Amino acid sequence: VLNKSTGEVTKKKPKLLTKGQNALVELQTQRPVALELYKDFKELGRFMLRYGGSTVAAGVVTEIEAAVEAAREAFPAWSSRSPQERSLVLNRLADILEQSLEELAQAESKDQGKTLTLARTTDIPRSVLNFRFFASSILHHVEECTQMSHLGCMHYTVRTPVGIAGLISPWNLPLYLLTWKIAPAIAAGNTVIAKPSELTSVTAWMFCKLLDKAGVPPGVINIVFGTGPRAGEALVSHPEVPLISFTGSQPTAERITQLSAPHCKKLSLELGGKNPAIIFEDANLEDCIPATGEICLCTSRIFVQRSIYSNFLKRFVEATRKWKVGIPSDPSANMGALISKAHLEKLSALLQLLSYLQEGQDTYFSLGWNLICLELVQVLCVPSQLLVRSYVRKALAEGARILCGEGVDQLSLPLRNQTGYFMLPTVITDIKDESCCMTEEIFGPVTCVVPFDSEEEVITRANGVKYGLAATVWSRDVGRVHRVARKLQAGLVWTNCWLIRELNLPFGGMKSSGIGREGARDSYDFFTEIKTVTVKH
Ligand code: NAD
Repeated sequence: VLNKSTGEVTKKKPKLLTKGQNALVELQTQRPVALELYKDFKELGRFMLRYGGSTVAAGVVTEIEAAVEAAREAFPAWSSRSPQERSLVLNRLADILEQSLEELAQAESKDQGKTLTLARTTDIPRSVLNFRFFASSILHHVEECTQMSHLGCMHYTVRTPVGIAGLISPWNLPLYLLTWKIAPAIAAGNTVIAKPSELTSVTAWMFCKLLDKAGVPPGVINIVFGTGPRAGEALVSHPEVPLISFTGSQPTAERITQLSAPHCKKLSLELGGKNPAIIFEDANLEDCIPATGEICLCTSRIFVQRSIYSNFLKRFVEATRKWKVGIPSDPSANMGALISKAHLEKLSALLQLLSYLQEGQDTYFSLGWNLICLELVQVLCVPSQLLVRSYVRKALAEGARILCGEGVDQLSLPLRNQTGYFMLPTVITDIKDESCCMTEEIFGPVTCVVPFDSEEEVITRANGVKYGLAATVWSRDVGRVHRVARKLQAGLVWTNCWLIRELNLPFGGMKSSGIGREGARDSYDFFTEIKTVTVKH
């Protein structure tokens, strides 16, 4: 247990922990100490273990109730403000966030493991932009449906905010995705309760501190920290929260859908992907060596036309080896650390642990095992290995070949001595389409490269997974790129480029990659209800 003011580390129960209290324990320690602590804390009430550089509260039903009350009270006044008035508040919030950009970038990088450069140049500036963008777009929505009917009536449509919006975001783009939901929701006149990922709550907490300064009225933006099974489920199940906007994994989306069903909640689900890149023989290879990693939009299956397959593979591996994995603050690093062992295979990791936990099951366990599991996966079962690696091992057992990265190359010595989940970008080949590495979302720096022969064949293979988030097509043949783009089952198709975003345009996935779209018009539609008004003359 780290005493932040003295820097002292103790193994004893801190005094503030009394039975039944909600506590979060920060561990700066290794597995044996964690186990010892765990024995002590088991007798106390619910708790949350977290190791790393931050300590945040673990909210439960009580905190969600308090947030609902605050959001309910704030709703009438906030929703009655004009779009222009709300837009001013969003712009002020953007300005204040921008003033804290460096501080937020540092915190995001430390908390999440991404490079400081990325946080500084992309993630935090994009969070600022989210408020500016929706501050502007809210001023341009005009309802067009006004009609006179033969019955002597005039009809028109009107949009009103939905009420209290529940927003749940993941760890990979912490502040960026949180604000991508908060901004359109409040712009449209809703009040919100947001739950950031328990793995990356720090910048969300820093954001809370800026709300007063920006003149956001109390109760309009409420942030509750905590784990998914506790705070998240309490939010999703709350009858006064009619709308849930969720970004995260598919298994969690399933659970959220189940919990929302009895209340017929409005759902927006932005989920994972298994994104293909299709590289035709006439592609410009200079441009199309795409990156992989912890972004839901990354390419994780690369299909290369057979005539250029070996050439591509050679150059791709060379380029991948040049990617520098480093500590996040190193300006020359292309990639930092992965988030945790648990993130990639949370569900199966939980199941693995379930048997372990049930051995010592008591009343408390049966109430809260999933919370404990989730945290213990990180604390106790991380001999600095990665679950991403288990995918790589599976692929190997199926006859696949690893060309670079995991199992072939070694992390640099300074990195091996660092605490943190570092992994080299890994390229796999000679792998079957049915292999789990080709079908399941790994969400780590692992990509598979396979050859194809014809356009028709590659479309079928690219579409042959349950996901449909993003795809890329590389070819100089204009007719072909349009043809293939139309046939690919993906919400986003980039041709001869990657990751270029226009915030006005719909963003989201097909099939198991989600339901609904986000963007200027799409977010507005989602965060409002439409009604038809008929007036008889
Ligand atoms: P996750 O589903 O484990 O968690 C996401 C959020 O849901 C967290 O805040 C978590 O606390 C909460 N949560 C977990 N269980 C819950 C429950 N039972 N009820 C309510 N809330 C619950 O996902 P993750 O590991 O944080 O994020 C990685 C996933 O997110 C990947 O699948 C990735 O592809 C996806 N993602 C998608 C997009 C997109 O735009 N499509 C963007 C980023 C990430």
